[in-house]
Amino acid sequence: MIIVLYPGSFDPITNGHIDIIRRGLCVFDRVIIAVGHNPLKVDLFTTEEKIEMIRRSVESNPRIAVDSFEGLLVDYIKKVGACAILRGLRVISDFELEMQLALMNRRLYEEIDTFFLMTDYNHLFVSSTIIKATAAAGGSVKGLVPQPALEMLIEKFPQMIKKQQL
Ligand code: ADP
Repeated sequence: MIIVLYPGSFDPITNGHIDIIRRGLCVFDRVIIAVGHNPLKVDLFTTEEKIEMIRRSVESNPRIAVDSFEGLLVDYIKKVGACAILRGLRVISDFELEMQLALMNRRLYEEIDTFFLMTDYNHLFVSSTIIKATAAAGGSVKGLVPQPALEMLIEKFPQMIKKQQL
């Protein structure tokens, strides 16, 4: 069984993430979605809320697991027996940080490789950050995030409700 780990902030999960997970399942037997905290980002959702949102978004696919981790990603990878890290690439500007992360993870754990999947052009501009900013200002993000994420965003930003019904 070839297990890949898909780590991220998922604050919230978007259809861009879902697309990467779907593509990952074409290559790997099992995808573990691992919610971590990115110290460079301010979170809207708690880890528990993210796990619930992701579980509801991927429904009960037996080839997908959802978990969280703290500390070094490579320690978590060794614990769950994954052989690779999955990451998504959108624009060239993603590449620099992703390359640094991939090389640092390999330095920490020589056995590990990072697999990059190119996003679909429909999700090229979709990031959790732009979703949060749009929703906070009352703009519609319908169609850009899975339905459970939309519902949980509306709970955080009730001013979205009117726009979502348009
Ligand atoms: P992080 O804070 O670790 O970057 P994110 O949740 O923002 O966590 O992203 C997790 C991974 O998913 C990253 O590799 C990111 O590039 C990728 N990703 C995010 N949004 C998209 C998207 N729209 N299409 C493809 N990949 C994406």
